[in-house]
Amino acid sequence: MTPTEIVPAPASDEAGGPPIHLTNARVLDPVSGSLGSPMTITVSAGTIVAIEEGRPGGDGRCIDLTGLVVLPGLIDCHVHVTAFSADEASLSRSSASYVTAQAARSMAAMLQRGFTTVRDGTGADWGLAAAVAEGLLPGPRLLFCGPSLTQTGGHADHRGPSDHSAPTGPAFPSHGIVCDGEAEVRRAAREVLRAGADHVKIMLSGGVASPTDRVDSTQFSASEIAAVVEEATAAGRYVMGHAYPAAAINRGLVAGVRSIEHGNLLDDSSLALFTARGAYLVPTLVTYRALVAEGDRWGLPPQSAAKVRDLFEQGLLALERADRAGVAIAFGTDLLGGMQRHQSEEFAIRAQVQSPLAVLQSATVVGAKLLGLEHCVGQIRQGYAADLIAVDGNPLDRIEILAEPERSLRLVMRDGRIVRDRS
Ligand SMILES: [Zn+2]
Repeated sequence: MTPTEIVPAPASDEAGGPPIHLTNARVLDPVSGSLGSPMTITVSAGTIVAIEEGRPGGDGRCIDLTGLVVLPGLIDCHVHVTAFSADEASLSRSSASYVTAQAARSMAAMLQRGFTTVRDGTGADWGLAAAVAEGLLPGPRLLFCGPSLTQTGGHADHRGPSDHSAPTGPAFPSHGIVCDGEAEVRRAAREVLRAGADHVKIMLSGGVASPTDRVDSTQFSASEIAAVVEEATAAGRYVMGHAYPAAAINRGLVAGVRSIEHGNLLDDSSLALFTARGAYLVPTLVTYRALVAEGDRWGLPPQSAAKVRDLFEQGLLALERADRAGVAIAFGTDLLGGMQRHQSEEFAIRAQVQSPLAVLQSATVVGAKLLGLEHCVGQIRQGYAADLIAVDGNPLDRIEILAEPERSLRLVMRDGRIVRDRS
């Protein structure tokens, strides 16, 4: 028996009950940036079934949103819901049940911040995604990859320099499958795809939290990267690649990696490749700021702290250059441990170099497209999933409205379920 058979999907009152009418809803369209006139949005069985003028007809519950601005639910394309510590090696030594409890808290908090869809970039698995989909745990719609693929000594190989034990296997909640050579990377990719991955995550360069590599290293050979892309594509999935230096970014883009995570050290040749390939950049700036300010409190080892110093400024510059070059940029945060509470601050950081509309698009329409969900999330349209938020004020006038959800966020609905109501 699978868990799905044991637990019938416990549709919430909202999803299974009468329709909900959101009245006097002024929708901010993230495509055009225009604020519509007051409308009634009718939601039934998790879907937006009508957006029309006037008072609703028929039965159902009414929620008056007069004075608020309604936006599509937000999308964060780089989270780690299982990363309850910045000491990633310690995660692998924990128990699956404890990690699940931590992930439940993390996901519930993300939903309360208005994120109705998130993409996990290592750690979350089928079980967590199913638990959210079935309503067992409150959280955003979760796209997962399980463990990431890393070469020996790569970003997800958590063994220190004096540790000569065999790398740990891919069991939950381990964060990496160490694999070398085309045959091994193919097997690893097939393994995570077999386990239901929505995308395959590979480490194309060194990173902050890994004990033995350098941020500016390149990882995996071109043929290994191409093999992973081939396996993901064959399965109707895509590859998400962690990369800092231009050399690593470019090798990934040439091989067909769909989204480059971080990308702080990109150069002009990278920008040309992004646009030519239609690939996405997912900056994660807030994590560097948080790591500098409080990484030690949340388990970041000292050797990792030294790596973070320049990454924030470099990343902000990379974002500005990518924006000017017309690269598709999605919203991501990559926060670990207790630093996840800073998730929404990414909006304000990006607004230093991007227009508020471009920032909003990254967390709605662009994110939806990267995830292949542009037909159902990222906009408020008839037939789309009823994922929406209502805020006090227009984020295009004042981006802090999105950066301070505890003050401005009045309503959160995911799949037609009201999960926050201070309207
Ligand atoms: Zn990450």
